[in-house]
Parts: sequence; structure tokens; C-alpha cells
Amino acid sequence: MTDILFIYTSNGLHKERFIISIEVKQRPKRREQRLRSDQKMAAAPETKTVHSPALTYFSMLSLLSLCPPFVILLWYTMVHADGSVAQTWNYLKQHGLQGFIDIWPRPTAIAWKIIFVYGAFEAALQLLLPGKRVEGPISPTGNRPVYKANGMAAYFVTLVTYISLWWFEIFNPTVVYDHLGEIYSALIFGSLIFCVFLYIKGHVAPSSTDSGSSGNFIIDFYWGMELYPRIGKNFDIKVFTNCRFGMMSWAVLAVTYCIKQYELNGKVSDSMLVNTTLMLVYVTKFFWWEAGYWNTMDIAHDRAGFYICWGCLVWVPSVYTSPGMYLVNHPVNLGMQLALYILVAGVLCIYINYDCDRQRQEFRRTNGKCKIWGKAPSKIEATYTTTSGETKTSLLLTSGWWGLARHFHYVPEILAAFFWTVPALFNHFLPYFYVVFLTILLFDRAKRDDDRCRSKYGKYWKLYCNKVPYKIIPGIY
Ligand code: NDP
Repeated sequence: MTDILFIYTSNGLHKERFIISIEVKQRPKRREQRLRSDQKMAAAPETKTVHSPALTYFSMLSLLSLCPPFVILLWYTMVHADGSVAQTWNYLKQHGLQGFIDIWPRPTAIAWKIIFVYGAFEAALQLLLPGKRVEGPISPTGNRPVYKANGMAAYFVTLVTYISLWWFEIFNPTVVYDHLGEIYSALIFGSLIFCVFLYIKGHVAPSSTDSGSSGNFIIDFYWGMELYPRIGKNFDIKVFTNCRFGMMSWAVLAVTYCIKQYELNGKVSDSMLVNTTLMLVYVTKFFWWEAGYWNTMDIAHDRAGFYICWGCLVWVPSVYTSPGMYLVNHPVNLGMQLALYILVAGVLCIYINYDCDRQRQEFRRTNGKCKIWGKAPSKIEATYTTTSGETKTSLLLTSGWWGLARHFHYVPEILAAFFWTVPALFNHFLPYFYVVFLTILLFDRAKRDDDRCRSKYGKYWKLYCNKVPYKIIPGIY
């Protein structure tokens, strides 16, 4: 995967400078246009890529064109080709492009209805459920987004509603599984249109000053333009796409797969139970910690574009849930002991991953005045300069999990994914695709984050690297 680093200068100053605020929109039109074009011009030449521009464009275009067909092929292989890549490959070899077009399900009315009802339900919960007021981190242009922390309530209401609909025979979740291909197909097209909407909104009606154009259509569409796009004052689009649609669909689909296997066989295998339980523990942890997620790279640094939004709207419901999708038709019997070992190992990894995030956030929240593994934390006081030239300080934790490696938290994240996949045993590779993908994603992300932090903190980041030399795996990498 390639990457782009928006607007950091070699002297390490954080200069993420993008266009137009709500105030600017209220000024006379000509002034607004002049400002926009000035700022666009200012932004464009500063855009730097981690890899060469040619490789960056090639990779972005490849991902834009390859991800949608991949989702369909993944679903087809899991549901109609026994989870066997070889079987799908032989089919494609025999039938060529026409064969591929034939297996691509057309989005049907029922698929659109399911997506629309689910999306509207989640949007309503996001807007209406009560929640504590939470402030996000200060953005590069000095804004501080405000959220309503009602994720756990929305998660609880969603699962109870979904399971009740099945229990009281009002709606059978097997309908979702039976139309999964059509749903993915509708999501692929619908989300592409949604990303075009984000692109246009970024140009004509950005919600805050944390927005702007690189001057290049592909980069703007792929990486996004706005950091915190909103509809009105309160409906945060990234909270909806990433959390309430994407992550929530993971839990909803995990339950769907379980119910489908039950309806097919009259029972649920222990492998499916381990897989569903671990995925639900993971998603529960996510919603428990949702306000913390609003401080991470996805929300605080990645703009709303194809990369993050299409990923959350399509890639999460399809690829992230795929080990469960495989198990529906492959009910492995692990036996009580093995099932329990896998379950405990998976829960432990999810806990460690949670504890890493918690440690960092507790440390930042208390300004370093907390205990890390029973002791006062070891830390670096790193200063950096903002867009407006202000000097600020951030604390970098160098003990606890964050003293083992700079991105140690990715290790339990990857292992947890392995443990909810391993109940499928090793007859086919495809259930492990998510683990492999996640490993590549997180290793790339560690590099991306290191580059960003090096630019932001300069010599202080170097100091951190000297103190904690390993990037992800202590003693190895
Ligand atoms: P982090 O939450 O690790 O955030 C990285 C940021 O933390 C850095 O940019 C820096 O920001 C700050 N930071 C870095 N080092 C330190 C330190 N030593 N002390 C204090 N602050 C530091 O990043 P992620 O968003 O990657 O991860 C969040 C969670 O999401 C993890 O649990 C991860 O496993 C999970 N995740 C899951 C994915 C999936 O697809 N399943 C994908 C990605 C993440 P600043 O500018 O504030 O200094």
C-alpha cells in the first residue's frame, strides 16, 4: 500500500494548511473565490509523497479499481465456491470476463432496502440517543471537534433490536445472508457515489477549516478533503461511516452468520461460537472505547475520502467479517478444550490491545500524572509548531506497552484476528485473508505514523526512537 504525507516540511514543522472555514463562506463571493484559489495554490506544491508520485498514483488507481471486484470475488468464493480460491480461479479461467460479469450480483430492491433501513436506523441512534459531550483532539488548524459519546448505547440497542426481530419472527437475519452478494454490490456502488458527494462537499461546502484540496482530483478523491465533515452541526459523517455503519455492521453480520448456521444445521458449531464471540468482544471493546477512537489516526489525521470511508462502508462489512462468512458453510468441530484455549487467547489479545490504547490515552489525559504498570511513567516532552506558528507540547510515553515498541499495540490486534480465524482450521487460505491484509495494513500504518510523527516532533521523535528502537515487534522489528 502506498501513502501520502500531506504538507510536512523538512524542518519538522507541522504545516497541515488547508482551505476555507465556515466564516470564509459568509464573506462576499469574490473574496471567497480568491481566498480559495490562493489557498489551493498554497496547498498543492507542498504535497509530498512517501513513495514516488508515479508509484503513488499507480497504487491509488490500482486500489480504486481492484477493491470492488475483490469484494465480489471474496463473497462468491466464500458462499458459492466452498471457500476455495482454486475453484474460483478455475471458473474464471474457463469463463473469462463474461463469467466474472455473470457472478457479479446486481443490486436489488431488497438489498437497497436493507442498507437504507440499517443506515437510517444507525443515523437516528447517532443523533437521538443521549451521550456525554466529548471533545476530540485539537486539529491542525486549531479546531476542536465535539462529539456525543453514545456509541455503546447504539451498539446495545442495535444488537438487542436485531436479535429481537429474529426471536419474535419479525425479520429473519438469514435474509441478509441470502442477499449478501447483492448487498455488497449495492454498497460498492452506493459508497462510490457517497465518496463523490464527499469530494464535492469538500470543494463547495466544507464544514470547517480542516479541509482543502491538493490540487489533484485523484488524491482528493482517494485521501479525502475534509477532516471532520458534518451534515448540519451535529451529524458527524466519519463517526457514521467508520463507527455506526462500518464497525456496527461487523457485529450485525457476525450475529447473522451465527443465525444462518443455526437455521441451516439446527445448531451452532463451537468454531462458529468462538469466532462470533471473539468478533463481538472486539466490537464491544471498540464501542466501549469509541471516544478514544476519535483520538486515533483514522479520525484525527485521515481525511474523509475513498481510503477511509469506502473502506469502512464496504471493506469492513465484507473483508473484516469474512472468517465468519466462511464458517457458515464449514462448521468445524473443535472440541471443548481447544475451543476454550482459542477463546481465552483471543480475549487476552483483545484485552492487551485495549490496554495499550487505554494506557496512551490515560497518560495523555492526565498529562503524565498517572501510574503505568504501577510506576510513574517515563516520558519525553516533545514540542512542535502549529500552522499558526504557535509552539505546543505533547507528551510521549516511553514506558509500559509504549516502551516495548513504538507500535506494539498492533501485535495483539493481529493476533486477535488470527485467533478468531483459526477456528476455521487450515483447509483453505481465504479465511486468513483478513489477517494477512491487517498485517500489511498495520505495518504500513506504523511507517505512516512514524513519518508523520518524525515530521511533527523532529528531534524529539528521534529521541523516542533511540529510547524505544523497535517499531512493532520488540527485539525483532
Ligand atoms: P494510535 O492510537 O496508536 O495513534 C498514533 C498516535 O499516537 C500518533 O500519531 C501520535 O499522535 C501518538 N503517539 C505516538 N506514540 C506515542 C507515545 N509514545 N505516547 C503518546 N502518544 C503517542 O494509532 P492507530 O489509530 O493506528 O491505532 C488505534 C487503535 O486502532 C489500535 O488499537 C489499533 O490496533 C486499531 N486499529 C485497527 C485497525 C483495523 O483495521 N482493525 C486499523 C488501524 C488501527 P500525536 O500527534 O497526538 O502525538
